[in-house]
Amino acid sequence: MCVNNQDWPTAFRHLTLSLLLAWFLGWLFNNSLVAISLTLGVFLAWHWFQLHRMQKWLLNQNNVEPPESRGIWGSVFDDIYHLQRRQQKAQSRLKAVIQRIEDGTAALKDGVLMVNSQGNLEWWNQAASQLLGLKESQDIGQPITNLVRAPEFKAYFDASQYGDPLEMPSPANGDVQLQFQITLFSQQDRLILCRNVSHIKQLEAMRQDFVANASHELSTPLTVISGYLETFLDHQDTLPPRWGRALKQMHQQSQRMESLIEDLLMLSRLETSQLKDHSQVNVPNLLNELQLDAIALSGDKQQQIEIDAQWVDIVGVSSELSSAFGNLIFNAVKYTQAQGSIKVRWWQDDEGLHLSVLDNGPGIDSPHLPRLTERFYRADASRHAETGGTGLGLAIVKHVLLRHEGHLQIESTLGKGSCFTCHFPLSRLTHLGHKT
Ligand code: ADP
Repeated sequence: MCVNNQDWPTAFRHLTLSLLLAWFLGWLFNNSLVAISLTLGVFLAWHWFQLHRMQKWLLNQNNVEPPESRGIWGSVFDDIYHLQRRQQKAQSRLKAVIQRIEDGTAALKDGVLMVNSQGNLEWWNQAASQLLGLKESQDIGQPITNLVRAPEFKAYFDASQYGDPLEMPSPANGDVQLQFQITLFSQQDRLILCRNVSHIKQLEAMRQDFVANASHELSTPLTVISGYLETFLDHQDTLPPRWGRALKQMHQQSQRMESLIEDLLMLSRLETSQLKDHSQVNVPNLLNELQLDAIALSGDKQQQIEIDAQWVDIVGVSSELSSAFGNLIFNAVKYTQAQGSIKVRWWQDDEGLHLSVLDNGPGIDSPHLPRLTERFYRADASRHAETGGTGLGLAIVKHVLLRHEGHLQIESTLGKGSCFTCHFPLSRLTHLGHKT
């Protein structure tokens, strides 16, 4: 409480004068002690009375005006009153700001939720109520994982790794697809944003269906064309000689189109179908088979293709893993020069299961690395013309790994070579491995 200091000397002067007067009157009537005690008593009673008034005033919320008083108490009442007014103004300013924020978040189409460090729901906006089916009266203070009851949400929330958003159906309406993005703030408090992404998902599904249908429809006529071209080539000697080169090129191009369609169909299967047929995949055996194909592809390039595999299995889909590992090994064969070396390693450690394909080929310039898994992205267009790739290989690898909870790491130095490593979590291990 701020008291006007100038009043203290006046108050002190008043007290001194009153005591002197009491002493004088007491001396006149020969009883100074009683007179001084009486004066002090009155003085104390006056202050007691003012204290009582102040308490009454402070307790009475409706009466904003302070009680009338003189001297030091008048000054105290005024100071408290001004302090109160200042606080009221600051309070209304804050209330207006909060109201504006609430109005703003209420107008948002996306759900916003605040969760404290214990994981309990503290606040949410109107959109969150609709998207998640929350009720203010009963859900405030409840653990968020009890309100959004889905194992994938609990796992995402507890993991505290919020780099990527989580997509899942709404607990309030299974037809609505939601995307959750969590941000940590303050002391492990969380701000959760949830968006309705059903529309985007529908468009994505339409795009995937279109690519799948178009590829499927193209595949049959192309097989017929390629079949006829093969027959013509088989009887090349009966045809005019100038047709030979044209037929060969047409056959080559039709084969390229076939592999392109095959890759597009594979990608759309990976994107749309659920992961099924989980089984124990014997990776060393799979790599031995791929090694034979790689040697055949290498042809007369005389490359050294080595496999070093620990006897460790993985839980997954054999055909998908074979396609992913095959893409990496065949890329190494395609892009590495004659007499080059390709080393394939499969091992397990404390962090998980890993497959690396290392080559001493031309390498890739670092600006290309983050974009290599995009569809049809090629680091070097001229190189691609020689190898005849589809530009979809690494996109397939990325999707297969995603379906196996894994991820792809690419390291490369221009002129020295590349290393593509697939990482899988330990949960994909079927049994403890031992070296072959
Ligand atoms: P593509 O069918 O063109 O090989 P990918 O998706 O498999 O398509 O690969 C994308 C691009 O990455 C390739 O065009 C190539 O430029 C580059 N690339 C992939 N693997 C290697 C490698 N082992 N060495 C050098 N470049 C590579």
